[in-house]
Amino acid sequence: MRATALAIVSILATACVVVKDSDEQIADSAAGVVVVDMDSVRDAARAEGARAHAASAPAPATAPVVGPVVAPPLDTVNRSAPPAPVSDGSAPHPTDEELRWLAASLIVPVQGVKTSELHDSFTEARGGGTRSHEALDIPAPRGTPVLSAANGTLRRLFTSKDGGLMIYASDASDRFILMYAHLDRYAEGMADGIPLKQGQIIGYVGTTGNAPPELPHLHFAIARGDGAHWWKGVAIDPYPLLTGR
Ligand SMILES: [Zn+2]
Repeated sequence: MRATALAIVSILATACVVVKDSDEQIADSAAGVVVVDMDSVRDAARAEGARAHAASAPAPATAPVVGPVVAPPLDTVNRSAPPAPVSDGSAPHPTDEELRWLAASLIVPVQGVKTSELHDSFTEARGGGTRSHEALDIPAPRGTPVLSAANGTLRRLFTSKDGGLMIYASDASDRFILMYAHLDRYAEGMADGIPLKQGQIIGYVGTTGNAPPELPHLHFAIARGDGAHWWKGVAIDPYPLLTGR
């Protein structure tokens, strides 16, 4: 299993089933991009109140974390932040046992997509080769239902310039963060703190954020978190977990 100490939200990128010209165009569109600036995230958390702050104790998976999140206005995002993923040396690395447990707890989070159709894009270069993708892109027609990959809790509905409409969820063990990005829209009833059932429709595939308009896809990322920081952790490749390869 590949696990790198990087923030889960660092990079958005693109579908892999594209011709070279499009790849380059996409790479350009994704270059220098940070999905969520950590300072802005922290500012947003502070604005929600002290109990939302990362320093607070991990919330039980069943308890609402805070009220509705308000993403920082896009024009306040600090674009001078380093485009590289933020290392999170304090986050625990997943053990082999945890990864086996997680693999047994996941389904492909796009309706109708088989594991055999997935393409591992975790280590693909992004940002002009300065960093790796650290997520799984799952191409699908716009509007295809996005499913909760696991049982757990919806931690945050979030919007960012590059990730577009996003969902951050924790799994049932509260160890792992599951992040879904570029959603066309959320499913009805989605709200911070609600329980999620594996297979439940949580949104729809789209191109919000920096996804190429002609290549709707789900950007799906997993990280081993620490239970307190809903936006970061040690990135884990979803592909081998989903496919057993
Ligand atoms: Zn991606």
